[in-house]
Amino acid sequence: MDQVTVVTGGSRGIGAAVAVRLAEAGHAVGIVYEQAHDAAEETAAAVRAAGTACVAVRADTSVDEQVGAAFDTVAERLGPVTGLVNNAGVTGPLGRFADTSPEVIRRVVDVNVTGALLCARRAVRAMSTRHGGHGGAIVNISSCGATLGSPGEYVHYAASKAAVDAMTVGLAKELAAEGIRVNSVQPGMILTDIHATMGDAQRPWRKKDAVPMGRPGEPSEVAGAVAWLMSPEASYTTGAVLRVSGGL
Ligand code: NAP
Repeated sequence: MDQVTVVTGGSRGIGAAVAVRLAEAGHAVGIVYEQAHDAAEETAAAVRAAGTACVAVRADTSVDEQVGAAFDTVAERLGPVTGLVNNAGVTGPLGRFADTSPEVIRRVVDVNVTGALLCARRAVRAMSTRHGGHGGAIVNISSCGATLGSPGEYVHYAASKAAVDAMTVGLAKELAAEGIRVNSVQPGMILTDIHATMGDAQRPWRKKDAVPMGRPGEPSEVAGAVAWLMSPEASYTTGAVLRVSGGL
């Protein structure tokens, strides 16, 4: 059966690297993005250049109707969905917790937790043998923050990522007998736009000495781990939380 994988937040950064890496492994890719249309189309072109089909769909992953429509479009254009990389995520501005606005806290939880749950729900309904599907794999992109707590930077974000890992463990157990594997990847500091968006483009370099390997990571270094977890080589791996952080 053809592998058709939805990559949320596939327009830029880690998600874009994952989309291309999965294409190299033979997956057709449905890219879901919120705003960056040109970047999404650029990544879609890179996926096609790697040899597989791709469609880029705009959807806010925190809104169920939009998630449902995106999954429908991917299935119509590429075939039945067999995989999900739950990667879309936001941090809000860097800062101490008490100075973080309720609106930012709410948005981070909406996108990182509710959005990941809604995407997983749609994927399960498409892939579970209990729902007439043929099985599949889900990788949730968490963060080292889930265990480090990210004090002084974004405790609300760290908490949202701990929720993502709890979801991984629970869904792995709930879906193991329905043909679906569920795993998390916890990136450390990776060189993407996310640091500039949170207000400090130099953060990965400023904080590099905290990383045992002494450097930030590249999106491709996360993508390789995701591709392995999505592959048949990981056929006995479910409920795992894989840290990809240079030792952080
Ligand atoms: P990024 O460069 O800022 O890209 C974020 C991606 O998520 C973009 O494609 C963006 O779409 C999409 N997105 C955000 N909100 C969305 C929404 N509501 N609906 C749909 N798409 C949405 O981030 P990144 O660094 O690649 O991060 C990817 C994931 O890795 C996130 O979950 C992040 O928390 C996690 N992570 C990153 C690092 C790091 O150091 N970079 C470390 C640990 C964990 P648009 O292009 O349309 O804006």
